[in-house]
Amino acid sequence: MTFYRQYRPQKIEELDLVSARNAISAYIGKDFPQSVLFSGPRGTGKTSAARIVAKGLLCEKNNGVFSEPCNECETCRSITDGNFVDVVEIDAASHRGIDDIRSLRSEIMLSPLSAKRKIYIIDEVHMLTTEAANALLKTLEEPPAHVVFLLATTDPQKLPATVLSRLIKIPFHKATAQEVEGRIKKVAEKEGIEIDAGAISLIYSLSGGGFRDAVRILEEVSSGSKKITEEVVRQRSSLASDDLPTSLVDSLISSDASAAFEILNKIEVASVDIKNVISSCIGILHKKLVNGGGGRVLFVLDCFLSGQSTMWYAPYPAATLASIIAHAVSEVGSPTASKKIDGAESTVRPTTPIQKEEERVDTKTASVKVETETVVEAKVVESNIESKVVEDIPSVSSEDRVVDDALWQQVVNGIKGKNPTVEALLKASRPITVKKDSVEIGVFYEFHKDRLEHAPNKQALVDVICEAFGTSPKVSFVLDSSGRPPIAEFTLTSSDSPAIIKAAKDIFAN
Ligand SMILES: [Zn+2]
Repeated sequence: MTFYRQYRPQKIEELDLVSARNAISAYIGKDFPQSVLFSGPRGTGKTSAARIVAKGLLCEKNNGVFSEPCNECETCRSITDGNFVDVVEIDAASHRGIDDIRSLRSEIMLSPLSAKRKIYIIDEVHMLTTEAANALLKTLEEPPAHVVFLLATTDPQKLPATVLSRLIKIPFHKATAQEVEGRIKKVAEKEGIEIDAGAISLIYSLSGGGFRDAVRILEEVSSGSKKITEEVVRQRSSLASDDLPTSLVDSLISSDASAAFEILNKIEVASVDIKNVISSCIGILHKKLVNGGGGRVLFVLDCFLSGQSTMWYAPYPAATLASIIAHAVSEVGSPTASKKIDGAESTVRPTTPIQKEEERVDTKTASVKVETETVVEAKVVESNIESKVVEDIPSVSSEDRVVDDALWQQVVNGIKGKNPTVEALLKASRPITVKKDSVEIGVFYEFHKDRLEHAPNKQALVDVICEAFGTSPKVSFVLDSSGRPPIAEFTLTSSDSPAIIKAAKDIFAN
């Protein structure tokens, strides 16, 4: 049995996520609601919590009052083993149709076989088809008194509002470092593993804030060894072959574009949580700044902070990171087109607490060090050349977009691993038209467009598209002046000098 299954929490008090634990504890000794939705990211303990609640409701020692389960009575034990007749677990991802819900509805009307109540745990409930969700809604509107629904989802916004309104919501958020580290310590202790603080915190950063991944990594790195140090985690974890955020920051500070994009690929292959990588990078840069890092550190930090502030509505974290990288390496060391960064000219907008904190640091550090550093900001957007191009091309609004998402996904998947440059460029782009006979890709910068049009890159892309579509569509790139990412709103540098544009164009050149 894996560590994760073996050491799943079995009691309410053992739930690692403090907020969820408190929300569930609040019902101890009270009426537990009949229809509850556990929503939150994967691996945060929603299913474990649902099973614990089922036991708390049915435990023979609780006499029908919701409380901590004893985990010893026959009912508790068979729920733990997953074979108690009156606790039904359904994976909506594989039983998503109307027939499944219809048979569920007729079954629900029957009295429980063994316990006083019947509990339905429906996982990934957002995967139900619309008809099935509507059928479920009818059941939720008037559930028989003996039934309790415990629904779980990673995507609550995909549920119809009518269904949502019937449910008591218990949100599960991404675990904090303390919560995940607490779980790692508990499991290590039970396994007799000696683990140092550095190893624990590295496992946490690799886990992306999920308990399941954290415990899985612990299991992987501890096989055959009861003493785990940070170095051991680094060596043994496939994810931890090197410290990705640190390498990324280093490559950005030294403006090494190809290294940075290579790391981006590694990050994606390792399925590390990208939002976490961005937070880690900000942390690392913050530390460097406090320790006297120069204007280049400040510039890269600016790129991350601006990028992070768009994460709230950016549907593709990988695209955000690609865009941050593209901006961070777009600094060009041309003396004719340079701009000194100092506290007064800082482009950091104080929209988050961390930004405010950085600004304070920035002012302090700037006076010591930054004068000698020069930074050019890649406001290619408003250059003469681009303005001309933009005039020629009608601006693209979201209504003009005709994108077959499935086809686009095939393009994105097809280029993966084949050509890192094109892959990275695509991530920082936006499909405008994706049809069998025509593909139009919107990019936000002239240099970006130029790199995509560069013959070998364009050929690689065209090959992938032709193979995926089975047709030979016309492939073109346009400067997308609508919905430009906020990161582009850096202040303009001294001039629209063609030198800047040329230099920016060279960024992606090998
Ligand atoms: Zn019990």
